[in-house]
Amino acid sequence: MTKAITKEALTGLVAELTAAGVRVIAPAKAADGGTDYRAIFTLADAILGGEMPRRSLRAVFQPPTEAVFGWERKGTGIELTPAAAASQPQVVLGARPCDAAGVNVLDKVMGWDYKDDMWFARREATTIISLACAEMAPTCFCDKIGLSADATVGADVLLRPAGEGYTAEALTAKGEAFVSGHARWFSDEPVTADPAPPSREAFPLDKIEEWLEGHFEDALWADLGLRCLGCGACTSICPTCHCFDIVDETDGTAAGTRRRNWDTCQTGLFTVHTSGHNPRADQASRCRQRILHKFEIYPKRFEAVLCTGCGRCVQACPAGVIVPEILDSIAQRANGGAA
Ligand code: SF4
Ligand code: SF4
Repeated sequence: MTKAITKEALTGLVAELTAAGVRVIAPAKAADGGTDYRAIFTLADAILGGEMPRRSLRAVFQPPTEAVFGWERKGTGIELTPAAAASQPQVVLGARPCDAAGVNVLDKVMGWDYKDDMWFARREATTIISLACAEMAPTCFCDKIGLSADATVGADVLLRPAGEGYTAEALTAKGEAFVSGHARWFSDEPVTADPAPPSREAFPLDKIEEWLEGHFEDALWADLGLRCLGCGACTSICPTCHCFDIVDETDGTAAGTRRRNWDTCQTGLFTVHTSGHNPRADQASRCRQRILHKFEIYPKRFEAVLCTGCGRCVQACPAGVIVPEILDSIAQRANGGAA
């Protein structure tokens, strides 16, 4: 189902949603002047189609820190109080297609060996309306990862710029229900979407996966390890990274909260055992882990690479560790090129 919506109608739609208690999250100005996904109250606060929001949508579904449950000693036992699952309906408006795709990639691991109820409660309460990108930044490489500037994966509704307004394509049952439920803002008038930027040839991801499988030991890792500072900037803004730690914050020994906090495989402490042994003792092995997980381990298990080509890590890395360059280099090695 494809409809059209004007900017004026979108303004009315946002006002209607917020008046009904729906949280609307969109790219908007952050306190320091940058752009980030934030709750907005009017469309005028949204920056649709502007610069890449600094952080991905991961935080919308899994906040950087959150209580999992509270516990209290009661007599000889312990009473647990699970954290309340999120239930406020919310709409992400103007999601980057690469970010919507990232949520879809993470659904696979969040529902795998253990169903992450907190993730899925927020997923259920959220409608994702993505906006096709009118242009690609020099750091973007979604097309080279098999997506595109108007990729539909992970979105419930995809808006495409169309002159002064947008076309609106409902992609899922949730998206159709959303458009039907707010029908007065959408029109059936035929509108033609502006052309999306062309896609380049994708990386040979199958070949890259195969090469990685056979090159756990390779000079490439030492090279990356020498450059990488282990700061974790790349993983903290990535739409597909999902490591976290579990910690207990206690109030003496009688009560406390079990909490999960985002963490990253790029820091030295991440894999330290209580014995003191660290199976990833140097930065080379940590860099290898990041690339292997994204392009070999995850694809094997879930048939999806753990990267949507958003380019945030390219922008964020202070040391010039550039994922598309690494993939290019691996592709060359897989083809018998540069060693
Ligand atoms: S690895 Fe880099 S380019 Fe790929 S999704 Fe993560 S932040 Fe974006
Ligand atoms: S941002 Fe760059 S320097 Fe920092 S951990 Fe990631 S790859 Fe290493």
